[in-house]
Amino acid sequence: MNTIPLQQRLSWQELLSNTVSDAAELCRLLDLDLAALPAGHPLLAQFPVRVPLPFLGRMVKGDPFDPLLLQVFPAMAEASPAPGFETDPLGEAASNPAPGILHKYDGRALLLVTAACAIHCRYCFRRHFPYQDNLPGKQQWQDSLAYIGADTSITEVILSGGDPLTLSDSYLDWFYRQLADFEHVRRIRIHTRLPVMIPQRVTDNLCRILANPRFRTIVVIHSNHAQEIDAAVISACLALKSAGLTLLNQSVLLKQVNDSTDALAALSERLFEAGVLPYYLHLLDRVTGAAHFDVPEQQARELMAALRDRLPGYLVPKLVREQAGAGAKTPAA
Ligand SMILES: *Cc1c(COP(=O)(O)O)cnc(C)c1O
Ligand code: SF4
Repeated sequence: MNTIPLQQRLSWQELLSNTVSDAAELCRLLDLDLAALPAGHPLLAQFPVRVPLPFLGRMVKGDPFDPLLLQVFPAMAEASPAPGFETDPLGEAASNPAPGILHKYDGRALLLVTAACAIHCRYCFRRHFPYQDNLPGKQQWQDSLAYIGADTSITEVILSGGDPLTLSDSYLDWFYRQLADFEHVRRIRIHTRLPVMIPQRVTDNLCRILANPRFRTIVVIHSNHAQEIDAAVISACLALKSAGLTLLNQSVLLKQVNDSTDALAALSERLFEAGVLPYYLHLLDRVTGAAHFDVPEQQARELMAALRDRLPGYLVPKLVREQAGAGAKTPAA
């Protein structure tokens, strides 16, 4: 299969449903030997492989250590027991005041608007989250949103999930219209990997919805490596920026993917070309199945010091760790 022409012909909806969904196919498309990269452990049924074609197209064929591949490949190491790694490392189940809403930090409420993602990131801290019990339909959303209406300290609503940009334009617009009734809500923030995974998602209509003058909208893309950001991703980001949105990036510090000064500096430089400023660099959440991505905190601090020497201040992300029970993301450097 030649993936490049195919992905150019497909709409974003088709690209979202036509993803690579098993390790053997992934290996075949990348000219890799599956026998040398054993996969297929029991955890896979719970969190299957999912790789969109545009992202696949940026991987280097024949390289088992490709930094994009490592983020999606279900390594056997996921099945190894790791002390201190848990299924709900952030204690999110405890800050869930209404179905679909997480309210952990002052002034900001996070809505879990969908469980769907374009990609399954093997390090994901929500890979075990009980979405089924937590995904309201429109009717129930109206009840849940009443929680936000009643708490006038909430000035920012964060659309998260899952990936909110997997929703249709009309559903996103529905959320904008519901929230417009709450005068205290000034900002909407969208955490999404879609502009990077499937840049075709950034259509004129999407830009129009997000540019709703009632709010300031911030789009936080999630990119971990410069190689993820090709010309199509840059165009998509610049389109969002032209619509007047603020663009930020958050990354996760991942062993073998971006745990070097060169990789992190190249990412920041590339993001800036796309009109995006680095926001957070997260230390890995200690979620079961992700221990093989862990970078020790001391090494992370050294990387940050080297990055500060190398880059202008505005290209240096904040290194943070998320801690259950803390009132904010905790600075780690
Ligand atoms: C990360 C997070 C936020 C946003 O935190 P910022 O520091 O403002 O980026 C809000 N709510 C929850 C539940 C979060 O996990
Ligand atoms: S929620 Fe984000 S990190 Fe987790 S699998 Fe989806 S896109 Fe990846």
